[in-house]
Amino acid sequence: MNIDYLLCMVPAFLLTIIASWYVKSAYSKWGKVPASSGISGYQAAQKLIAAGGLQGVQIEGVAGTLTDNYDPRTKVLHLSQSVAQNPSIASIAVAAHELGHAQQDAQGYFPLRLRSALVPMVSIGSSLGWIMIMIGMFLAYAGMTLGTDIAWLGVLVFSGGALFALATLPVELNASARARRLLSETGIISNYEEQRGVGKVLNAAALTYVAALVTAILQLLYFVSMVAGLGRRR
Ligand SMILES: [Zn+2]
Repeated sequence: MNIDYLLCMVPAFLLTIIASWYVKSAYSKWGKVPASSGISGYQAAQKLIAAGGLQGVQIEGVAGTLTDNYDPRTKVLHLSQSVAQNPSIASIAVAAHELGHAQQDAQGYFPLRLRSALVPMVSIGSSLGWIMIMIGMFLAYAGMTLGTDIAWLGVLVFSGGALFALATLPVELNASARARRLLSETGIISNYEEQRGVGKVLNAAALTYVAALVTAILQLLYFVSMVAGLGRRR
């Protein structure tokens, strides 16, 4: 690791830390504010499933904190214990956001399908791309022209990760917009103060996806500059 890498990654690292702190603080603040409707995340999810025409969606528990998710393959909404049980603004916001994904799934929302299609590419891409870049560089330094080509191919494979982070952003922002709409349509969230709280929790979560995108892009740019430097050596 050289200094250029640090220069590239320090801003991404700081943004990731800030985003994660912001999520925890928004979640803990609005996790203590009860919703005037008095319902928990689990009850909100039940109401939204009925109101949103999502009857095929099952609700199950999941271990951990902020681990809530919707699985399009099994049509299961996984709620963490604190979201399921707490009658707070934060719990309701999180449950509604995940059901926003369920609604995207039910309607065949294209960006969600694109993201799901990219998943296998990303899990292989990030490690394989990195290995190819390293092998390519090694060969190039050993004087083999083929090395530079292999390294560029590695960059291409690696860019799948940045593409995934890019595809994730509209999916997440759209799920949050759907959550806000579902919550006001069903009257679960009615007054301005509660809407503001839901917005704070959802925006904090969105920031973590922005941080992931910035990290992926900076990492990619670093690899591009490294491999481009390789070409200039000859
Ligand atoms: Zn989401």
